[in-house]
Formats: sequence, structure tokens, C-alpha cells
Amino acid sequence: MRDCVFCKIVAGEIPSSMVAETDRIYAFRDIEPHAPTHVLLVPKEHVLDSVAELGADDADWLAELMVLAARVARDEGLEDGWRIVTNVGPAAGQTVFHVHFHLMGGWADR
Ligand code: 5GP
Ligand code: ZN
Repeated sequence: MRDCVFCKIVAGEIPSSMVAETDRIYAFRDIEPHAPTHVLLVPKEHVLDSVAELGADDADWLAELMVLAARVARDEGLEDGWRIVTNVGPAAGQTVFHVHFHLMGGWADR
């Protein structure tokens, strides 16, 4: 999709720090991290603006994304705890309208 920052990142038109990928999913570091480890996971294709549009056809890539998230959490050493967040709409703080999930962790023990 034209003028979508995540489509440009997936296409390599905007540089990014890759963490992992599968055929359908790309994981890269958030440019403005809100946690010691903050990774974004996106479908490579601009399938949806947000999870508000999810349908039955999305089950496969969504499962692939979640499995990759768990793998990244393990690889990043986040066994102590991690979180997945997805924002829907500007009121929730969504700024990029290419569906994505924030994987965050790495906080010190509390
Ligand atoms: P949202 O606020 O839409 O849920 O999340 C968008 C996220 O994308 C933000 O955390 C923001 O820091 C990140 N972001 C925006 N532009 C870029 C970019 O060009 N590169 C990377 N790596 N992250 C970006
Ligand atoms: Zn996009």
C-alpha cells in the first residue's frame, strides 16, 4: 500500500532492524521503544488496518504471527515475562494503520 510506513519497511524502502521473519510475517525493533525489548510483528502483506477487521480468513497468518512472537520472546531471553499489545484506532494510540503487534519485555525483576 502506498504511503504505509510498514509496507515500506517490509519492502526494504525504509531501513529496519530485523529480528525474525517467516514467509508471511516480519518482526523488527520499534524505533521508539517503550520497553527494554520492544519488537513489532506485522504481516508482510497489508491485509488489515487493525484487528478490528479480522475475519475467519485471517486465522492462518495470525497464528503464524503469534507463534513467531513466542519464538522471538524466547530468543530475546524474555522468559520472565512479556506482553503483546495491539492498538485499534487513534483513541487507543494507533498511529500506523497496517495491523501490527507490539511484543514488549525485558523489565528488571520487580
Ligand atoms: P501504534 O502506535 O500504531 O500502535 O504503533 C506504531 C509503532 O511503530 C510505534 O511504536 C512507533 O514507534 C513505530 N514506528 C513508527 N515508524 C517507524 C519506523 O519507521 N521504524 C520502526 N522501526 N518503527 C516505527
Ligand atoms: Zn502497510
